[in-house]
Amino acid sequence: MAKTMFEKIWDRHVVLERDDGQVLLYIDRHLCHDGSRAGFTKLKSLGLKLRRPEQTFATPDHYRPSTVKTVAQIEDPTMRGILEQLVANAAEFGIHHFGLDSGKQGIAHVVGPELGITLPGILLVCGDSHTATHGALGAFAFGIGASEVAHVMATQTLWQRKPKSMRITVDGALGFGVAAKDVILAIIGQIGTAGATGHAVEYAGSVIRDMGMEGRMTICNMTIEAGGRAGMIAPDDKTLAYCKGREFAPKGADWDAAVEYWKTLPSDADAVFDTDIAVDGDAIAPMVTWGTSPENVVPVTGAVPDPVAEPDPVKRKSLEGALAYMDLKPGTRMTDIAVDKVFIGSCTNGRIEDLRIAAKVAKGRRAAVATLIVPGSTLVKRQAEAEGLDRIFIDAGMEWRESACSMCVAQNGDYLEPGKRSASTSNRNFMGRQGEGGRTHLVGPAMAAAAAVTGRITDVRQMMEEN
Ligand code: SF4
Repeated sequence: MAKTMFEKIWDRHVVLERDDGQVLLYIDRHLCHDGSRAGFTKLKSLGLKLRRPEQTFATPDHYRPSTVKTVAQIEDPTMRGILEQLVANAAEFGIHHFGLDSGKQGIAHVVGPELGITLPGILLVCGDSHTATHGALGAFAFGIGASEVAHVMATQTLWQRKPKSMRITVDGALGFGVAAKDVILAIIGQIGTAGATGHAVEYAGSVIRDMGMEGRMTICNMTIEAGGRAGMIAPDDKTLAYCKGREFAPKGADWDAAVEYWKTLPSDADAVFDTDIAVDGDAIAPMVTWGTSPENVVPVTGAVPDPVAEPDPVKRKSLEGALAYMDLKPGTRMTDIAVDKVFIGSCTNGRIEDLRIAAKVAKGRRAAVATLIVPGSTLVKRQAEAEGLDRIFIDAGMEWRESACSMCVAQNGDYLEPGKRSASTSNRNFMGRQGEGGRTHLVGPAMAAAAAVTGRITDVRQMMEEN
C-alpha cells in the first residue's frame, strides 16, 4: 500500500500498539536543553538510570546570556545555577553535552542538524515545541512535555497517538526578496494557527524543492504555529550533501547503507494524505505580522486590517484585543509602523544563511534602532566571523552577541521593554513573549535588517535593489 513519508517513519518506530490507539514509539535521538531539568530530577527521584545516554544530547540555550562566554561569567545566580545544573546532570548521566566551552553550544534546533544528530528517517524528540524544525531533514521530530521527557530518558520510548497526515504544496517560484520566513508566514496566514492541528505536515512543491536546508528548517520550525504536530520535507540531494561529514552522521559503509534507506523515505507518488493544501508561491510577498498571533499577518505592502470586516464575533473580539495590545489603528500602512528594537536570531532564523542575508542588507548602512544579532549556535557564530559578517553588523552599529535563544523568549536577560515595539525574526508574537508589554512584529532576516536601518517596518525589496 502506498505510504506517506510520515507513515514510513512512524511504522518503522512502532514498538507496540494498545487497543485504545496509543502506540509506543522508539526514540532514536533525544535533545535536551537547560529547560529539561525536571526530567533529570524525576529520574533521580525514581532511582533510574538514563536508558540510552549515547542517544541523548544536551545544550544550554534558553537561559544562556548572550553577553558572556563562560558559565562563571553569568552574574544572575538563577541563570548560572540552571546552566551549572545541566553540566552536572550531563556528567552524572553520561550524555553528550555541548557546554559554553565546547565550541558547539547553541539552540537545540540549530545544534541538532549542524552536528548531524538530526538525520533523515529518525524519530527525534526534545522538550521544546519547535522540535518540528528537524523535520526539514526528513526526520519525524516533535516537541514533548516534561513528563514525556522523563519517560524518554527512562525508556527511550514514548506513547503517542498517531497524527493525521497533511501535505502543504507550495508551487511556483518565489519573487525577488521573498524567502522562507515569508513562505511559512503566508501559509499560516492562509490556514490559520489551528489549520494543521492534529497533523504531521509534509511540505512539498517547487518552492520547497528549490529552497536550501536553512530555509527548509525555517519552514518546518513554524509548523507548530499552525498547530501541526510535526513538519517534514522529503530528503533529497541537498539533504544528503548537508548531512555528509557532520560529527554524528554515519560514516563509510554506514553512510552508504543510510543513504540507501533515506532514498526510500519520500512519500509514494500515489500516497494519500488526510488533508491536502495548495499555496501559490508566486503570490507570496515579504510578510509581517501586525497582531499577537502568527496568523495576524499581511504583506509588507498591506495595512493593519479592520476588525469590523470580520463576521465572526469571537474572532472580531480577538482582533480588537490584538490591535489594542499592539497599539495600532486599522488601516495603518505596515511601512508606517516605527520599531524600537530589532532582533535577528532564534531557531527560526539564527542560521548562517539568515545572517548572510541580513548582512547583505546591513552592509554599508547604520542601524537607526537598537539591534541584537544573536547567532543560533557557536558554530554559526564562528562561520559568520570567518566570512566577516560580524564586522558588517558591528560597523552598522549592531550588537554581535553569543549564541542563545535570547530575545525570542526573553529568559536570558535580553528582552523588549514594556510598550516598546520590535521587528523580530523569531516565531512567536504572543503578548509578552519578548518581554512584558513588548509588541512584536515577526519578519524574515532581510526585513529585520531593513527595519533596523530605517527604524520602521520596511519593504526590503527596495533596499535590496539599491545594493
Ligand atoms: S529560539 Fe525561541 S522558539 Fe527556538 S528554542 Fe529558543 S525559545 Fe524556543
